[in-house]
Amino acid sequence: MEETTEAQHALKPQQYVDVLLPVPIPRLFTYFVPEALIEQVKVGCRVIISFGRQKIQTGIIGKIHDQKPEKYEAKPILEVMDEDAIIHDIQLKLYRWIANYYMCTIGEVINVAIPSGLKLSSESYIQLNPELDFEDHLEQFSDTEFELLNLLKQEDQLTYQQISNLLNRKTVYELVRNLNKKGAILIFEQIKEKYKPRKERYVRLKKELLDDRPAFEALFEKLESKPKQLEVMLQYLKLVPAMEDPSQNEHGIKKSKLLNYPISNSSLKTLTNNGVFEEWEKIISRIPKGSASKTSADLSPEQAHALDQIKTSFDTHDITLLQGVTGSGKTEIYIKLIEEVLANGQQVLYLLPEIALTTQIVERLQLVFGDQIGVYHSKYSDNERVEVWLGLLRGNYKLIVGVRSSVFLPFDNLGLVIVDEEYESSFKQYEPAPRYHGRDVAIMLAHFCHAKTLLGTATPSFESYMNALDKKYGYVQLNHRYRNIQLPAITLIDLKEQRKKKLVKQEFSQTLLEAMEETLARDEQVIVFQNRRGYAPLVTCQHCGFIPKCHQCAVSLTYHQYGQEMRCHYCGYKEPVPTECEACGSNQIKTLGFGTERLEETLSLLFPKYIVQRMDLDTTRSKYGYQKILEAFKNNQVQILVGTQMVSKGLDFERVGLVAVIDADRMIHYPDFRSHEKAFQLIMQVSGRAGRRDKQGQVVVQTYDPKQELLKMILTHDFEKYYHYEIKDRQKFHYPPFFRLIKVVFKHKDAATARNGAHQYAQAITPEIGKHRVLGPEEPVINRIRNQYLMEVIIKLEKTNINLSQAKKILQVHAQLLTTEKSLSGLGIYFDVDPI
Ligand code: ADP
Ligand code: ZN
Ligand code: ZN
Repeated sequence: MEETTEAQHALKPQQYVDVLLPVPIPRLFTYFVPEALIEQVKVGCRVIISFGRQKIQTGIIGKIHDQKPEKYEAKPILEVMDEDAIIHDIQLKLYRWIANYYMCTIGEVINVAIPSGLKLSSESYIQLNPELDFEDHLEQFSDTEFELLNLLKQEDQLTYQQISNLLNRKTVYELVRNLNKKGAILIFEQIKEKYKPRKERYVRLKKELLDDRPAFEALFEKLESKPKQLEVMLQYLKLVPAMEDPSQNEHGIKKSKLLNYPISNSSLKTLTNNGVFEEWEKIISRIPKGSASKTSADLSPEQAHALDQIKTSFDTHDITLLQGVTGSGKTEIYIKLIEEVLANGQQVLYLLPEIALTTQIVERLQLVFGDQIGVYHSKYSDNERVEVWLGLLRGNYKLIVGVRSSVFLPFDNLGLVIVDEEYESSFKQYEPAPRYHGRDVAIMLAHFCHAKTLLGTATPSFESYMNALDKKYGYVQLNHRYRNIQLPAITLIDLKEQRKKKLVKQEFSQTLLEAMEETLARDEQVIVFQNRRGYAPLVTCQHCGFIPKCHQCAVSLTYHQYGQEMRCHYCGYKEPVPTECEACGSNQIKTLGFGTERLEETLSLLFPKYIVQRMDLDTTRSKYGYQKILEAFKNNQVQILVGTQMVSKGLDFERVGLVAVIDADRMIHYPDFRSHEKAFQLIMQVSGRAGRRDKQGQVVVQTYDPKQELLKMILTHDFEKYYHYEIKDRQKFHYPPFFRLIKVVFKHKDAATARNGAHQYAQAITPEIGKHRVLGPEEPVINRIRNQYLMEVIIKLEKTNINLSQAKKILQVHAQLLTTEKSLSGLGIYFDVDPI
C-alpha cells in the first residue's frame, strides 16, 4: 500500500497555488506547495506565506495548479491555516467581479471583504504553550528547538523576524512548525487572540443532590440556621424551577445574573465549595440572541396579492422591484418570503442601508426567526464579525441582516436577497477601494448563486425604476398603507412670506410652532429633520467677513457647541472656537446657519415641558447609541426627536403625529445632478414617519420657494409624475440612468501636479475614448481633503453598443502609464465607477 502512494506522489507534478493577498497589487502570487502540505491545500483556505522581504501575510488560495511561474522563483507556502475553506468559489468569483467592475485590485477587495480577525500580519507572535512544560520532555526536542524554547521562556513572545535574528537563521518556519506540532508553542497567537471566544460562568445545583430528594430536604433543614445561604438557594430555585423540572437545572443560570439579586456572593461560594452548587464555563456568542416567539403576521388582502405577484414575477425575473408606500407593510411581505426560503433550506441576505435601521428591523425579525439571524454591521467588533462569518460557514445562521459589507460573507446556498430602501446612497462605499455599491453587488451575488433579488422601497432609485419600466426587473406595487391609514397630509410653509410678517422665531415659522404645540398637547410626538449636524455650519467675523476653514481641506469648519470646538466634517480636524478673528482681530464673531445641535437647543428652550433628543452622527458614535435613543423615543420618554437623515427611514413609531422638514431648499439646491432625486426621496421618506398606526399624520415642509415643481409633486406623493418630470433632463444631459459614469480622481499634495496629471490623462485618453465621452478635467466642489488637492475627469459611457471592459482597460492602462511619469511622482489616481 505505502509503496503505491509514494509512487503516485513521485509521479505527481509539483503543485502550485495562486494566492490572493490583501495588497493593492494587480496580480496574483504563485507559491509552491511543499510535500508536507499537499494534502492540506484547498481552494478558499487561508495560507501563510512570506511576502516581500521576510514579511508574513495571510492569503487565500484562489487556485491550485501545476504551472511553474516563468518570471520568478516560486516561494513555498509556510502553513495552511484552515481545514475547511473560509470562502467558497462563489466568493472568489464575486470578489473578482468586483475588482473588474469597480476597477481596483482583487487585493483591495480581499482587504475590505475579510474581517481583520481572519487576517494575519507580519506582527504575529509565537509563545510557549503554557500547558506544556517542555523541560519535562527534553528528549523530544532538537538542540535548536531547545534553544528557541529557552528564548521564548525569557521573552514571553517573539515574532518570526525576531526569532530569525536571535537564532541567526534565515528560515525558521519549519522549526516553528515542528515545535507547534509537538504542542510546545502557540503560533500566530495574535490571530488566535484576535478572535477570542467569549465565556460566561454558569451555576447549577449538583445533579446528585437534586436526584436524592431526602438528602435535598435534609439540606434545607440545615440551611434554616444559615439564612444567607438559604437566601441563595431560594433565589436560585425562584429563577430555575429545578425541583419541578430537573432539566431546567441542567441549563443552570448565568452566575452574574444570579448575583444581580441581593444575595451574598460568599454564601454562594460556600455552597459551591460544599458541593451543593457547581460552576462551569460556557462559550457564548457575542451576538445577542433572541428566540422566536411568534409567527409571522397574517397578510392583508392587498399584501397577500403583492406577495403572489412577487412570486409570479420571480418565475420570469430574477430581480423584482417592490414599490410600496411607507407603512404599507413591506417588511411583513419580506418576512413571508424569508420563511419560505428558509423552509427550503436556503440562506437569505437582508441588506439595509444603515445601522440606524437594523435595530428595529432585527427586533422584528428576531421575533419570528429567533437565533437563525446573524447581524453584520460596522458597529460590530471584529470578534463579532468573525463570529457571524464562521457561523454562516457552519450553518448556524441562515438569515443575515446587515449593511453593504455583508455581501462579502461566505454564502453558498443563497435563495433570496432583499435590498431594503434600495435607493439609499449609503449603499455606496467611497473610501477605500473597492468603491462598490452594496445593492449592485448583492444583485451579482444573487446572480452567481441563482438566487432571487427583491428590491424594496417607497421611492425607487431612477436606475431601478427605469429597469422596472423597461421590464428588465419585475415590478410590484403596494399603494395603500396597512389598514388603509392615510398617507400624511403635507403642508408647505413659505418662509419668505412668514419672515416678512416677522413670524419666524430662529428657524421655526409660527405655523410650524403652532402645529408642534398642538401635536404635543395631544400627547403625540414630533420628528424634526435637518440634514446638517453640528451647531452652526459657519462662524464668521462680522467685521471683515472672515470664515475659519480647515487647514487640510477646502471646507469651512462647523461649529459644535458641545465640546466648544470647530470641526472639519471631512477629515475630523478640530480646533477651539475662536474668540477673535484670525484675520482682523475683531471679537465680533457670529454663527451663521443652523445644524441639528442648534435646533435641539432652540427646541429645548421653546418647549420646556417636553424632552428633546438629537439623533445624528455625533450622538450615535457609541455601539448602542442608536438603540438607546430609539428606545427612549419608542417609550415616549422623548417627545421631540431632532435628527439628520438618520431619522428619515424605517422608523416605525405609533405616536408620531408631526414631521417637520426645516430647510428643504438646502437639499434641493445642492450642486449635484442627483440632488433633486435625493431631496425628493428624503422628504418622502421622512414624511413617511408620520401617522403610521391609526391616524393620518401631518408633515410641514419649510421653504423659501414653495412654487418649485419638485415640492408640488411631493404634496401629492406622486413619485411617478416626479420621475417623468426629472428623467427628461437626465436623458438630455447624458446622465445616469441613461449613461454610465466613471469618475477618475487625481490627488497630490501639490495643486499643480494634480492639475497636470488630470490634464495629461484627459489628453491621453480622449483619442481612444472619444471627445464627447470625456468631461473635464475639473476641480471638484471640495478641491482639497487632508492636504491632498483633487482633480476629476468624468467619463460618460453609453449603456449599449459599447465595449465596457475595453473602455475600462484603456482608462486603466493610461492611469498606469501616468504613474510612471517622473514629473508626476506621488500622483494618486483612482476610479469611482457609478459614482453617487
Ligand atoms: P413599510 O416597511 O412598508 O414602511 P412596515 O412593514 O413597517 O411598512 O409596516 C408598517 C406597520 O404596519 C408596522 O407596524 C407593521 O407591524 C404593521 N403591519 C403591516 N402589515 C401588517 C400585517 N399584515 N399584520 C399586522 N401588522 C402589520
Ligand atoms: Zn475679521
Ligand atoms: Zn479637514
